[in-house]
Amino acid sequence: MGLFDTKPMQTDNISPEVADCDRQLAALNQRREEVIRRIGLLYVESNDAKAAAGTPYEEFLKEIEKLALETVTLEKRKLAVQGLRKCEKCGNVLVLDSAFCNKCGQKLEPLFTPTADNPRICAKCGTAYAEGAVFCIGCGNKLEQEPV
Ligand SMILES: [Zn+2]
Ligand SMILES: [Zn+2]
Repeated sequence: MGLFDTKPMQTDNISPEVADCDRQLAALNQRREEVIRRIGLLYVESNDAKAAAGTPYEEFLKEIEKLALETVTLEKRKLAVQGLRKCEKCGNVLVLDSAFCNKCGQKLEPLFTPTADNPRICAKCGTAYAEGAVFCIGCGNKLEQEPV
């Protein structure tokens, strides 16, 4: 009917030559995607959001930095729910309540520190809590009352 009507796609009875071309096209496309992914990785390894300020890459890099931060927090939480934490200096895995690393002697800071986005989080497990809460609903830790 219309000018742009195309012949209906033949789904059955595709000739082996066409099927072979399709396979090769898919493989080429996949290789292209892989190269693009590697370009992205290379760029991310050698640039940060600051370096990319004002370029179209800035937002992507900010997103990646945000994801990296969330990954670190989630990895900490994963250990914390098992009653463990890592020494930030040497990577040694310790009991969550440790005050010092038993391998390198590093004094251990609170695992989770509040941020502007998350002003009230349990220092032990990173669970957010409501204003005025006394105990963490995530781990039962007695919460520090913030100075008013
Ligand atoms: Zn250590
Ligand atoms: Zn907690």
